[in-house]
Amino acid sequence: MNNVVESTLSIEKNPNPVPADERARRLENPAFGRVFTDHMATIRYTEGKGWHDAKVGPRGVIPSDPAMQVFHYAQEIFEGMKAYRLPDGGGALFRPDANARRFQNSAKRLAMPSLPEDLFLASVRELVRLDREWIPSGEGSALYLRPFMMATEVALGVKPAAEYLYCVIACPVGAYFKGGASAAVTIWVSDSYTRAAPGGTGEAKCGGNYAASLVAQAEATREGCDQVVFLDAVERRWIEELGGMNVFFVFEDGSLQTPPLTGTILPGITRDSLITLARDMGLTVREEPYSIDQWQADARSGRLREAFACGTAAVVTPIGKVKGHKHNFTIGNGGAGELTTKLKAALVDLQNGRAPDPHGWLDRVF
Ligand SMILES: *Cc1c(COP(=O)(O)O)cnc(C)c1O
Repeated sequence: MNNVVESTLSIEKNPNPVPADERARRLENPAFGRVFTDHMATIRYTEGKGWHDAKVGPRGVIPSDPAMQVFHYAQEIFEGMKAYRLPDGGGALFRPDANARRFQNSAKRLAMPSLPEDLFLASVRELVRLDREWIPSGEGSALYLRPFMMATEVALGVKPAAEYLYCVIACPVGAYFKGGASAAVTIWVSDSYTRAAPGGTGEAKCGGNYAASLVAQAEATREGCDQVVFLDAVERRWIEELGGMNVFFVFEDGSLQTPPLTGTILPGITRDSLITLARDMGLTVREEPYSIDQWQADARSGRLREAFACGTAAVVTPIGKVKGHKHNFTIGNGGAGELTTKLKAALVDLQNGRAPDPHGWLDRVF
């Protein structure tokens, strides 16, 4: 399996990888997105020619020109996924086909070319194989993969670019939030800013959505909160999602609820997996709108027992407190709820190959 070339991908090993002892040191407690592996994958696209020059090679700088379209009009999309260390020392991706399809959907919305699913999968799998020594094995850690695509045409005219670069880089990661894997976060209700409007780019995974959310995140930080929760742009009352995570609510009858995918919410693969796992457990999951005022009323009456955020980077994160200009409430005892903990364990055990995989979600790469 070691040096299998998939699709038309060419492979060049980094002649100067980070030495093993230095790599071990960097793997000890990596801050999110600060430590990078020895390799990266790149594929180029040119109108008329299609996808070409697919390779996995040494990680390095990307040649750029100041007039590259991405610098001016933000035609850029990305993905986030993880490779997990398996109990037998192997490595597996989690539902990479879902990331490949979402990448195609994001590309469509941003008027970019569609990267074939087999090329996406080959680039990610081959990068994981080459950088296998970088997959950490500690609890809650994994190798985070970041595929992304940007407009590289050198032109200032406003139009979809004719040239693109697709790239995948990788970072070993531990727990996303500093408080540790099961610490509850406090979230800030943004009533001055929205993340996505109907017809906008809310369901595409594009850098522009993040750029637009940073000022709200900065407000949350100023208010002593960890994350921001966005309300819908039309009525300003329906809960949508956090800046980069979907949200779930757990009620006293043991049922779960999460906002429906109506076009302004990012369709999270963690969200989808948790809905499936919860239903496998016999739990009721509703995909229905939930208002911020109802959330406060239900938290105060005790009808709402738990709430959590979820996404690839932060996995499942309990929400302990909610604050805003007009809201202030604690959920349950302010810590990690029982069902939140149980669902998280079910997901993490499956991802790490410690539990059965009835849906065939694990994609073993070596
Ligand atoms: C990536 C992302 C999520 C989570 O998606 P996963 O596939 O679960 O990682 C949620 N919201 C936003 C805005 C995102 O960009």
